[in-house]
Order: sequence, then C-alpha cells, then structure tokens
Amino acid sequence: MKYALVTGGSRGIGRAISIQLARDGYYVIINYKSNHEAAQETLSQIQNEGGQAELMPFDVSQPDAINTTLEQWYASHPDEYIEVLVNNAGVSRDDMFLDIESEDWHKVINSGLNAFYYISQRVLPEMILHHQGRIINISSIAAIRGYVGRVNHSAVKAALLGVTKALSVEVASRKITVNAVAPGLILTDIHRNFLKSQNISEEESLIQYKKYIPMQRIGKPEEVADLVSFLASDKAAYITGQVIAIDGGLAV
Ligand code: NAP
Repeated sequence: MKYALVTGGSRGIGRAISIQLARDGYYVIINYKSNHEAAQETLSQIQNEGGQAELMPFDVSQPDAINTTLEQWYASHPDEYIEVLVNNAGVSRDDMFLDIESEDWHKVINSGLNAFYYISQRVLPEMILHHQGRIINISSIAAIRGYVGRVNHSAVKAALLGVTKALSVEVASRKITVNAVAPGLILTDIHRNFLKSQNISEEESLIQYKKYIPMQRIGKPEEVADLVSFLASDKAAYITGQVIAIDGGLAV
C-alpha cells in the first residue's frame, strides 16, 4: 500500500488532490481542521469510486496535535510509511498591512509555514529510510507578485518557495523530491471569502479576470490536482526544487 497525506484535504484544492491521488492508487490520509462534513464528503467520493482513504483531523498549526496523531499512525503501521506529503492546508486573513493584528499574522504563518516544518520533519525520516518520497508544497503566485491586503499570505507562500529549494537539495540523493506548486486564482472557499471581503460578486469578478488573466478564466481545483498528481508520479522522478505556477498566464 502506498500512502499519501494531504493536509487540508476536506475542501477546495486539497479535496481535488485527495480524490486524484486516490485515483492514482494511493491510500489517501485526508487531514482537515474542523469541517467534518466536508471531509466526510471527500472520503465518500473516494470510496464511491473504489478508492481508499481515511480521515485524520488535526490542526496543522498545533505541533502537539501533529506529533500525537502522526505518532499513533506510525505506531499502528509499523511496516508502512507516508510516501507522498502534500502541504496544502492554509488560511487567509486578508487585510491592509497596517491593520493586520498580531494574532492573524501568526495564524497565517503557523498554518502555512510552521505546519510545513512540523509535518515534513515527522514524515521525512521514513521517506529517507525507504529511499523514496515526494513533498509537494502548495504555494501561490502571491509568492512572486504582490496583492493588496495579502502581505501575510505572501510571507508564507514566498517562504515555501525557499524551503522547497533548500530542502530539495538536502534530500535529493535519497530519491526524495521536493517541489512547489503556485496556483493563481482557483475557485474555492478561500477565494469566495476574498471576494466577499472586497465586496465583489462572482459575476463581477469574472469580468475583471478576463481583463488580466491571459486565459480569461479562473482555474479549477482539479487542474491543480493534476499537476500534483504528475509531481507525485514516477514521471516526475527527476524534477526537484522547482516551483511550477498554474495560473492561466497571470504571473507571466
Ligand atoms: P479552502 O477551500 O479554504 O480549504 C482550506 C483547507 O485547509 C480545508 O480543508 C481546511 O480544513 C484546511 N485547513 C485550514 N486551516 C487548517 C488547520 N489549521 N489545520 C488543518 N487543516 C486546515 O482553501 P483552498 O483555496 O483549497 O486553498 C488550499 C491551498 O491552496 C492553501 O494553502 C491556499 O493558500 C493555496 N492557494 C489557493 C488559491 C486559490 O485561489 N484558491 C490560490 C493560491 C494558493 P476545514 O475544512 O476543516 O476548515
């Protein structure tokens, strides 16, 4: 059995990634924070298609919760390991820089960057032992260009590009690849909340997108999932330390 852990797998991009990796033959461990209903929906969809998965709720910003949950998993799977880790979970707390409260700053950093540290550090030793592994970090084009009200988001996403490059060279000789995916605008709850915070309707936003996204449309979670699926596959065995944008040409 090949195991893949997808953080934030209950909704949006993480759900599409979980479903696609299950189609690719992985037993998918679906992490989420609190939306049990959405997570159950992802699980049911995988199982209805004949795939295998389980739910693993924990808060990716809480090191104790991460350690306890993953220790239990490894203890009950003594001969197995997590071969693919997708660091996808993230929250946004968009605001003008001068208005960002300390609590919101740390929430975004903890659930994006620190989560990478705690979770990757726990799953990497077994990947090294097995000389096989994939770590895929979900960054954002906000890592490479600026957006008003998103300084905290850019801080995390740009940091993920740095850690991807640095870690990739540390583990390359062990046949472990570390890559980042940088989505542009993808229609999910995070994005719907962003529109709401800016008082922009979905219809209105589509008109705007046509003006500045060369492909004149917003992306789909399934398109990001296809890229992650490729990076997790043997076809991508010689690709590491890369950041691949998937944004309809937005950041070109
Ligand atoms: P989303 O629809 O809001 O889903 C967020 C997911 O993360 C949910 O599964 C949520 O779990 C989980 N999550 C949030 N905080 C968590 C925590 N502390 N612990 C565990 N799980 C947590 O978001 P999305 O749009 O799919 O975004 C996924 C990733 O892509 C994020 O890192 C985001 O920054 C990045 N991204 C998105 C876009 C975009 O346009 N959508 C663009 C660029 C990058 P619950 O269901 O339990 O809340």
